[in-house]
Amino acid sequence: MTPRENPPVTAGGEFDLIRRHFQRTAPPSVAAVALGIGDDCALLQPSPGGLLAVSSDMLVEGVHFFPDAAPEALGHKALAVNLSDLAAMGAHPLGFTLALALPRVDDAWLTAFSRGLFALADAHACPLVGGDTTRGPLNLCITIFGELRPGQALRRDAAQAGDDLYLSGAVGEARLALELLRGTPWATAHSGPGALSRLRERLERPAPRVALGQALAGLAHAAIDVSDGLAGDLGHILRASRVGAHLELAALPLPPDLAGLPEDRRFECLLHGGDDYELLFTAAPGDRERVQAAARASQTPVHRIGCITPNAGQLRLIGTQGQTVAVPTRGFDHFA
Ligand code: ADP
Ligand code: MG
Repeated sequence: MTPRENPPVTAGGEFDLIRRHFQRTAPPSVAAVALGIGDDCALLQPSPGGLLAVSSDMLVEGVHFFPDAAPEALGHKALAVNLSDLAAMGAHPLGFTLALALPRVDDAWLTAFSRGLFALADAHACPLVGGDTTRGPLNLCITIFGELRPGQALRRDAAQAGDDLYLSGAVGEARLALELLRGTPWATAHSGPGALSRLRERLERPAPRVALGQALAGLAHAAIDVSDGLAGDLGHILRASRVGAHLELAALPLPPDLAGLPEDRRFECLLHGGDDYELLFTAAPGDRERVQAAARASQTPVHRIGCITPNAGQLRLIGTQGQTVAVPTRGFDHFA
């Protein structure tokens, strides 16, 4: 095929495909969407004085998901990882665009994909407002738009020495699910029957903490969503904020399916497991009550797992006896 700017997916062009799978009969009733799919641009109207929050995340076959991944789960996850970025900024979703490269037109695949995508979009009142469709190796790229009030963003560089460190939910299960799917011996040998069917959801259908993120806007200091592993993502906050942290291993919630793993593998899942999409954030110790109120209001469990220290870039892991534990701190890096 001669390279061209936008090779069509079918001989008739992509319009039919867009109409069948992505353009819904009822246009989005969300107030922020002045114009959705169908024109040269979508038109969004943020609240007067609001800041626009924008983020893109791409899922590539063979890199982020297996070639035989269930399309409905892919539709969910492609949007979930983007909603998670808005959550980690404390933003409220306005809408998203979808850039799609497809090797072929497979209507059954597209129907399931859009079902998963729209179920999550509707749950968060976050409509699809546009995109691009082309032929190529399977690649899903979503750009999401949100808004927040000036001064309320949960920036990575806003952690302060003395802050408490918090984690929503629990981490590690998505990593164990991935190892079970791969058939990794240490994972299969130490997991009970039914572990994969329990954990698979955590890997394939993460629940972005959007309500918690919004409840923390203007209250928490720094936040990040845990996509590449707790230790690595905490490292991003520490570097940006030029602070250190104590992480209390005993305070980390231990998901039941991780309890039977050898200790080193358990910590590998807890500290370096990716794909959890929980929120890691800091807040002033004087705001403990308000943080717990935000957790209750958003129906999201939140645990205090440590504190921020003045020692720039230094992450200290504290064991159950108060001793310092050495664990290499690395997150997932696609180019490492
Ligand atoms: P243009 O040539 O102006 O870029 P396109 O032909 O690519 O327009 O798309 C036509 C309309 O369909 C646009 O409004 C675009 O945003 C929308 N669109 C294209 N692909 C998708 C998609 N995968 N999901 C949602 N909307 C899409
Ligand atoms: Mg286009």
